[in-house]
Amino acid sequence: SQFRKYNLKNFIINAIEDMGYQKPTEIQEKVIPIVLRRESAIGQSQTGTGKTFAYILPILQKIDPIKKEVQAVITAPTRELANQIYHQILKITEYGNDDEEIVTRCYIGGTDKARSIEKLKIQPHIVVGTPSRINDLVQEKALFVHTAQMLVVDEADLMLDMGFILDVDKVASKMPSDLEMYVFSATIPDKLKPFLKKYMENPNYIHV
Ligand code: AMP
Repeated sequence: SQFRKYNLKNFIINAIEDMGYQKPTEIQEKVIPIVLRRESAIGQSQTGTGKTFAYILPILQKIDPIKKEVQAVITAPTRELANQIYHQILKITEYGNDDEEIVTRCYIGGTDKARSIEKLKIQPHIVVGTPSRINDLVQEKALFVHTAQMLVVDEADLMLDMGFILDVDKVASKMPSDLEMYVFSATIPDKLKPFLKKYMENPNYIHV
């Protein structure tokens, strides 16, 4: 398939090809190289364009399974979307070798927080969830994000509407100052711009 040009790890290619995807969608074509180059991006695109795999595939490529620490944080405004993203990741990581397993956890409201904290004796490689629960676990010093270089803010315009940007900001402020941030949004409202400026110096703009 045309995904081979990105030189992605075998398990990623095997997963994509088993799912039957022949070529990257427009947003994937634009986003994948940027993420692989470790640059930040703002992507204006709707759901249904393949945007989830646009960031998931290159993020998975950059995860070092040997390091048992959080390397990527993916935030979404709703429990439903967080769950969808989580399951898309699992569809790929289940193709990985057992000795280089990539561990992903999903943290959303309405689930057993004490149990999540208990399981965080081992930190996952990837964290997906809603900003409030992720921030909660960070503030509880159960989840450590200072090791995570990559932050995804999916449906950022909805995050803003729902008042979640402050929670995303709190999580981002615990991450390295040179983090790579990937923001996806149908529109880029002015009220979002201070947050974008705070964490991204020279982001790539993508519109599909
Ligand atoms: P999304 O915009 O991320 O919600 O993706 C919309 C749908 O497109 C999902 O059901 C994916 O499984 C599918 N999809 C993602 N990438 C591709 C691709 N390269 N080719 C065909 N379908 C894809």
